[in-house]
Amino acid sequence: MGVPDMPQFHLSEDDLLDYAAGRFAQPFAVLIASHLTLCPACRRSVARFEALGGLAVEAAPPAELDPGSFEAVVARLDEPEPAQTLPPATGELSRLPAPLRALVGAAPAWKKIMRGLDEAEIGDGRAGVRARLMRIAPGCAMPRHTHGGREMLIVLDGGYSDEIGTYDIGDVAVAGADVVHRPVADAREGCLCFAVSDARLKLTGPIGRVLNLFIRY
Ligand SMILES: [Zn+2]
Repeated sequence: MGVPDMPQFHLSEDDLLDYAAGRFAQPFAVLIASHLTLCPACRRSVARFEALGGLAVEAAPPAELDPGSFEAVVARLDEPEPAQTLPPATGELSRLPAPLRALVGAAPAWKKIMRGLDEAEIGDGRAGVRARLMRIAPGCAMPRHTHGGREMLIVLDGGYSDEIGTYDIGDVAVAGADVVHRPVADAREGCLCFAVSDARLKLTGPIGRVLNLFIRY
């Protein structure tokens, strides 16, 4: 893997503001933090929001402080250097951005979901938030599907294309019920990505409707 170019697909300003305020559940926050490691533009936005948040905290009377959000900002400032806490990076894991490598741990448990698609569940799915690594074989097309809730995805290696565009390393796709798409993995490299969702996907094509009966998305 070479040094990736700047990502083309980013988080919205609203999402970056919510991230800076500590409003995202952990797997979503890790996904966004992973994008930040690859995207100077979004890093600058978050730094600006955090600075504004700091000013708001200083200006507010103590009784109105929200200790949770304040501590969330402080905790991020105090985060240890990733190198001190990470397991040794070998093979596939070496491709993961540091925040994600810390979440995934040493050995993701890969399972074959269907031809050309392996997944590894990350975390315990607490609070209805599901996080998983997905490995899609080169040139493989996923069934056409929409999303029951909100799904956020970041490309970690290779890439994929759909009706919206071509996603490469570091690019983030945010999809809801308004997005119906049929992703196709890069013909040479396939696609390694990390997806977080707060509801099940719904497959929409004729084959997809049958697969819905068997696949727990
Ligand atoms: Zn960005």
